[in-house]
Amino acid sequence: MPELPEVETIAADLRPHLLGRTIVRCDLRFPTIVRHPEPETFVDLIAGLRIESVSRRGKYILIGLEADRVLVVHLGMSGQLRLVDASTPIADHTHAIFELEDGRQLRYRDPRRFGRILLGTQPALLEARAIPRLGPEPIDPAFGADDLYALLRRRRAPLKAVLLDQGTVAGVGNIYADESLHRARLRPDRAAGGLSRKSARRLHESLRESLETAIKNRGSSVDTYRDAWGEVGGQQEVLLVYGRAGEPCFTCGRPLSSKRIAGRTTVFCTRCQR
Ligand SMILES: [Zn+2]
Repeated sequence: MPELPEVETIAADLRPHLLGRTIVRCDLRFPTIVRHPEPETFVDLIAGLRIESVSRRGKYILIGLEADRVLVVHLGMSGQLRLVDASTPIADHTHAIFELEDGRQLRYRDPRRFGRILLGTQPALLEARAIPRLGPEPIDPAFGADDLYALLRRRRAPLKAVLLDQGTVAGVGNIYADESLHRARLRPDRAAGGLSRKSARRLHESLRESLETAIKNRGSSVDTYRDAWGEVGGQQEVLLVYGRAGEPCFTCGRPLSSKRIAGRTTVFCTRCQR
């Protein structure tokens, strides 16, 4: 599933190409991928709107349009958002095609259909509960180690579960939760509230390092993730623990353990992580 670094890569790639372009029309081939408003209304409303910004919040791509409207794309498990020439053959599982006035098309493809597309003003989308309230961005310079400590302190749930909770910190999923807990030398099944201030500081730094390194490497293509040009990322080549259960820990050589936490396969080193 695309997480913060993958979504950031797509948003950053698209930004210079989409700014100032107008969405001429939208061809919805699988209307239920649009969750808000009704698909017919969505198609009517979006036609003719100019793109004013492209950003990311958590795992959401936010395409800011005229009239304070925002086109929100969540890639779910297998969503891909690509910018192509209109002449490019349409791939299977392409659910929405946004035609731009320069002849290019922004296409949303999603074989597993867990993704979603929304349109509205941000307050209206929040009000309608179409998008959830998200916690702070872990790579935001304004988000400090003490802020993370304060968020963890009240929680009895395992550390891994708390990191996956989008209302606590936004954008972290299974890959980067495991990677940052390994870097921080913390066991994923420890109660979040039991962390010392010092350990929280280490986790804060590790989260930032894991996410920023992955952004630099254009994300992890461990599954179906592709960037806006259909290319794979590079981070999957250098992951420390994710997907490596049973293989030797790079630090101590002991085989990495795996355990289900918060419903997700979690990989960690029982010697290095305490
Ligand atoms: Zn180890």
